[in-house]
Amino acid sequence: FELERLGVHRSVDAIFPPAELVGYLSDLPVDVSVVDEAGIADCDAIVTRNYFESVLDVEWIHSTQAGIDRFPLEALAEEGVALTNSTGIHGRTVGETVAGYLLAFARRLHDQIASATERRWERPEWDEAFTLPGTTACIVGTGTLGRGVADIVGALGVEPVGVRRSDDTLPEFDRMYAVDDLHEAIADAEFVIVTVPLTDATRGLFDAAAFEAMRDDAYFVNVARGAVVDEPALVEALAAGDIAGAALDVFETEPLPEDSPLWTMDDVIVTPHAAAYTRDYYRDVGDIVRDNVGRLERGEALSNQVV
Ligand code: NAD
Repeated sequence: FELERLGVHRSVDAIFPPAELVGYLSDLPVDVSVVDEAGIADCDAIVTRNYFESVLDVEWIHSTQAGIDRFPLEALAEEGVALTNSTGIHGRTVGETVAGYLLAFARRLHDQIASATERRWERPEWDEAFTLPGTTACIVGTGTLGRGVADIVGALGVEPVGVRRSDDTLPEFDRMYAVDDLHEAIADAEFVIVTVPLTDATRGLFDAAAFEAMRDDAYFVNVARGAVVDEPALVEALAAGDIAGAALDVFETEPLPEDSPLWTMDDVIVTPHAAAYTRDYYRDVGDIVRDNVGRLERGEALSNQVV
């Protein structure tokens, strides 16, 4: 198809001002503008964070997120709509966020920040704080996020162990397990970090049995999608002391409901699905979109295409 009008949907506002991306792409030989839902009908292609039924009328959708679990993949395929995602840009941002969680747990920063907001001068117990070298992080999912996390926590002295569908090795990881051996892989790790996409195969992957398999001094980190975890089972494991704590960026329901026990549990860090935030986000997404506009012009296959 011929690309004449590319719309940047207002829903990207959750991550960056849409006008920033429009400005960044102003050198493209196509008309680029901010559109609301009604304006989608006038576009051949749309950059969006959210899914709306009206996007089924465009030729190409670019998702500003890596996860495309909210898009109806079958309907898109039936309608002949191409879908590309933003996988590939979140390794450093999410990696640094995860390193922050691990450092907070080891150095007890989350506790001290919480005390400070109440003006309490409260030090950790003598045996609470530790350092990261010598600990192991089992990273479940070895794509952009998993490798980014492995790189950065590896540099802090943590031994990164990977879990993927095969057990073939990757340079970022010291050891590798197949996902069929998940419970064996997570059994010895001080940190278990989830970086898989949400699919039929990963929904509920972390259930009561998985938390049972973890060490009782282990911390659980989820920066993937909430539904990869059985959240009530996680709450129970935390309450029972089956694991030591958790850092969670994603939840079954977002925003996390006010009455969720996770908000106030000891050694639970809650962040608002912001692990990948950076002021460079619109540039990172823009580079993928610009590359794909060039590919369309040259009649080449799109990169990052999911449908
Ligand atoms: P990616 O495609 O680069 O990597 C995903 C990896 O998971 C791939 O290596 C794939 O082979 C593997 N995988 C798929 N199914 C699997 C299974 N059943 N068992 C084991 N491994 C499996 O994607 P990414 O950029 O690393 O992102 C991964 C997911 O993280 C996204 O789908 C999204 O849901 C989530 N994400 C969250 C944030 C955030 O802000 N918290 C940011 C980016 C991505």
